[in-house]
Amino acid sequence: MVLSELHGKLTRALRQLDNETIIDEKVLNDCLNEITRALLQSDVQFSLVRDLQINIKRTVNLGQLAHGYHKRNIIRRAVEEELCKILDSGKTSYVPKKGNASVVLFVGLQGSGKTTTCTKYAQFYRKKGFKPALVCADTFRAGAYDQLKQNAMKANVPIYGSHTESDPVQIAVEGVDSFRKKTHDLIIVDTSGRHKQEEVLFEEMRQISVATNPDLVIFVMDSSIGQATYDQALAFKQSVAVGAVIITKMDGHAKGGGALSAVAATKSPVIFIGTGEHMDDFKEFDVKPFVLRLLG
Ligand code: GDP
Repeated sequence: MVLSELHGKLTRALRQLDNETIIDEKVLNDCLNEITRALLQSDVQFSLVRDLQINIKRTVNLGQLAHGYHKRNIIRRAVEEELCKILDSGKTSYVPKKGNASVVLFVGLQGSGKTTTCTKYAQFYRKKGFKPALVCADTFRAGAYDQLKQNAMKANVPIYGSHTESDPVQIAVEGVDSFRKKTHDLIIVDTSGRHKQEEVLFEEMRQISVATNPDLVIFVMDSSIGQATYDQALAFKQSVAVGAVIITKMDGHAKGGGALSAVAATKSPVIFIGTGEHMDDFKEFDVKPFVLRLLG
């Protein structure tokens, strides 16, 4: 189900309340069941949806509410609050500061959009007046360095990498050191991915993380991977200190539920979303406007 479908189903479920003269237990249950169905079809993890339903029922105490209008508003606000609660990790992400030489490590599975997102992130901060630089520590995928180089050129950001060195830890350390000396204030390290969660990938990630001591580790996740989102995000979080999440491919066939599950698994905020293949298809993410848009 695409994001607009989730939006359509949630607004329909809430609008149904407007058609009812009396809002009783049955009407509330029907509405919550529709919301639950929509969220599950949109790949939000089952336990999150179940908790959301329980919490809304607890907040909306129908017996104590007098008028229909009042009830509708209370239900709507409870749904809004519960969705915000899932998406709000309660933590703020590290934000690079000019002149600080921040090191930001990107991790994620192959195909998640990590390399593309690194460059979008670099460009975002270049436009804010930073002096970003990219380090390609992906020695696993043939062509990774060339791909990042091409992207970096488009974004007008310098890059460090090697066609011959096979140790990603060494490249990462050399790259970070070299850009520090050149007074770059945002050094972005792209690590390699794998097709699935493999121990060898996590070990490599851990080693790069220890060697470069990043200020922030960003987990990049493809929004279209379905119910696997929660487990994948959790596996990354357990291996490396993920501090923020970027959800890619929120255009086209994106299911909004992935974002909710990733936040719940990593307890880290979503800071940006990718909305296309081009460098400018990149948006800052804010919980409240996202939820308000979902609920129409
Ligand atoms: P990596 O293997 O994780 O480094 O992934 P890549 O950066 O190579 O991206 C894999 C594919 O996803 C490429 O074709 C990208 O153009 C595409 N891609 C990345 N981000 C987005 C996005 O936000 N939206 C869409 N539609 N495609 C994206």
